[in-house]
Amino acid sequence: RRKIAVMTSGGDSPGMSGAVRAVVRSAIALGHDAYCIYEGYEGLVQGGDLIKKMVWEDVRGWLSEGGTLIGTARCAAFRERYGRLAAAKNLILNGIDGLIVCGGDGSLTGADLFRAEWPSLLEELVAKEELSQDQVEPFKTLNIAGLVGSIDNDMSSTDATIGAYSSLARICQAVDYIDATAASHQRAFIIEVMGRHCGWLAVMSGVSTGADYIFIPEKPPGEGWEKQMCDIIARHRRLGKRKTIVIVAEGAIDRDLKPITSDYVKKVLVDVLKLDTRVTCLGHVQRGGTAVAYDRMLATLQGVEAVRAIVRAKPGSPSPMIAITENKIIRKPLVEAVKMASVAEAIKNKDFDQAMKLRDAEFDEY
Ligand code: ATP
Repeated sequence: RRKIAVMTSGGDSPGMSGAVRAVVRSAIALGHDAYCIYEGYEGLVQGGDLIKKMVWEDVRGWLSEGGTLIGTARCAAFRERYGRLAAAKNLILNGIDGLIVCGGDGSLTGADLFRAEWPSLLEELVAKEELSQDQVEPFKTLNIAGLVGSIDNDMSSTDATIGAYSSLARICQAVDYIDATAASHQRAFIIEVMGRHCGWLAVMSGVSTGADYIFIPEKPPGEGWEKQMCDIIARHRRLGKRKTIVIVAEGAIDRDLKPITSDYVKKVLVDVLKLDTRVTCLGHVQRGGTAVAYDRMLATLQGVEAVRAIVRAKPGSPSPMIAITENKIIRKPLVEAVKMASVAEAIKNKDFDQAMKLRDAEFDEY
């Protein structure tokens, strides 16, 4: 009988609660004990009431909920060795030998580091007499599995992260609302969307709403983009389009890594095309609301698979990250998945070809 814990970490996303529900219930269904760690790594570091044994009914109704019902946090202590030491002690004191982390690339990087350090953390706990050799003996291996929960869809090694499609649906709905007023007044709207270093939400919402122009971090526009954008928009207007929608990813930059701000894009449209232009920053509504069907399905199938991966792990086998590739739920080595998450690094180095490659995307110029 295993004791399997689940936690959510980093930015919240719709579907995280569904993933927790799936983990808790499949652990129980397979005859194991299920635990929730509240408030992300903070709960692991602090222990006490933040680590709670769950029963079947505890997660009733969680499947459709937005956000995460077990809380999430950014935890500075877990980035440091002393924090991970406290976390290891709390896991052992609770008898937990399987940990499922649902979070973004930062959270999974932390999980992978924790896994790698595990034997030395135990040694240090014994050396400092925080735990006895007998106490640590049964916990020689900690099985970890990663679930990718993020609205940004910013993990290279999986096709979709839990929450991304809910966020995309919300953005499209918001653009549809804006469309009505834009067309009525023949206005231009600059819509700023989330995504950090990832342009997925911007590209997909642009495609799904027929936007006129899109700015993303991985593919900064070349010099003279202002003219190119204005030419395209002017042509659309000549062809009878009564509205203009430009989507700007929050991380949009030019080739010198200078941010492309919504206000600057607005200024260009006003100065060059004399368009009545407004900026709408969608902000946190993109994170809210219930999870769309796709995220409920992804959270459930991946949560079940994460528990299976923990239960079936062989000693010494690498920790998996649960991915979806070509519509199949699969396991990938967590270490490699985390390594692939270095798009932000590629952008910082102005290696935009590499950034696009890591995104698995090849866009032709057209
Ligand atoms: P999102 O993409 O939604 O922001 P994320 O998981 O990338 O989610 P982060 O803030 O990067 O969000 O990470 C969440 C938490 O994971 C951090 O507050 C920290 O506790 C832990 N963490 C992140 N990176 C590391 C690391 N390199 N080493 C140890 N812990 C880390």
